[in-house]
Amino acid sequence: MIFEQVATNGCQSYLVGCGETCAAVVIDPEATQVDRYLALAARDGLRIRYVVDTHTHADHFSASHVLASKVGAPVVMHRASGAPTVDMRVDDGDCLIVGKLRLQVLHTPGHTRDSMCLVAADRVFTGDTLLIGGTGRTDLPTGDSSALYDSLFGKLLALDPALQVYPAHEYKGRASTTLGEERATNPRLQVRDRAEFIALMANLNLGMPTHITEALRTNLSGGKTVAQMLAEAAASVPFMTMAQLKARVESGDADLVVLDVRERDEYRAGHIPGAQLLPRGQLELRVNKELPDPTRRIVTCCELGRISTLAAATLRQMGFQRATALDGGMQAWREAGYPTRSGEAP
Ligand code: FE
Repeated sequence: MIFEQVATNGCQSYLVGCGETCAAVVIDPEATQVDRYLALAARDGLRIRYVVDTHTHADHFSASHVLASKVGAPVVMHRASGAPTVDMRVDDGDCLIVGKLRLQVLHTPGHTRDSMCLVAADRVFTGDTLLIGGTGRTDLPTGDSSALYDSLFGKLLALDPALQVYPAHEYKGRASTTLGEERATNPRLQVRDRAEFIALMANLNLGMPTHITEALRTNLSGGKTVAQMLAEAAASVPFMTMAQLKARVESGDADLVVLDVRERDEYRAGHIPGAQLLPRGQLELRVNKELPDPTRRIVTCCELGRISTLAAATLRQMGFQRATALDGGMQAWREAGYPTRSGEAP
């Protein structure tokens, strides 16, 4: 077995390959590590056959769809997953064949309804069902501590105690443990009965993970993160520096339209002299009326320079071939001491 463990801020992902046939699987890939999985697979001479998420992650962005489309492999998740973009849904007892390796699916709901573990030869990938010295939390969407109790004590701990445990999270730098060690020392497993376990899980007082809504939304839809959308927009438009725009505004460049895409009250409080107001939320609907000449040079601006980048990208897609975004926003413009006007749009 060829085995690579990739850690990202405590998120653990795995590239597991068959040395005889060069087939491989990636388990719980993380969004910033796509190039690493591809590079490791290439270095080890592996072809990625499956990309598996052990559950719907709420605390980080999954790379499963991006990676799977790059290598032409299916995204595999448990059939209880709510994500419409899963290519292969598996059930308890199913088996993924990776060359000579067999990955056995164990449905272990509790952390989430769609949580599963994968047993491969001498090891088990436990996702967030069982962590080293801990378990996944059960207070996030579809979590259920009674179900986790059954999954741990009824299923996972019924396996060979010598199996090596590889979890989806580990923050203290430990690579792995065994089921037997966890049974003996994991504080969450030292409970008398179900009621005690449920009470223990109910009293963890954990903070909410950062980006939970965005991570769940993105992982459930196979969609893009806000950072990806901004990066794509920024890569598709040119920018104009603040100094360049100031010089052109002051010289009265008749070819130029400064398009302020903030809300009306922000515009009223202070805008670039001569700027036209068209809030981002109304851009597509009002652009034909407000900007009748698509050959004009348009520079979009907003408060921080991000919404204006999205707006310029949208304008380019709509055929405004000279749409450009201000490099910076009104905040920086004011801080630079550049001229503004207040009042209603002309
Ligand atoms: Fe999780």
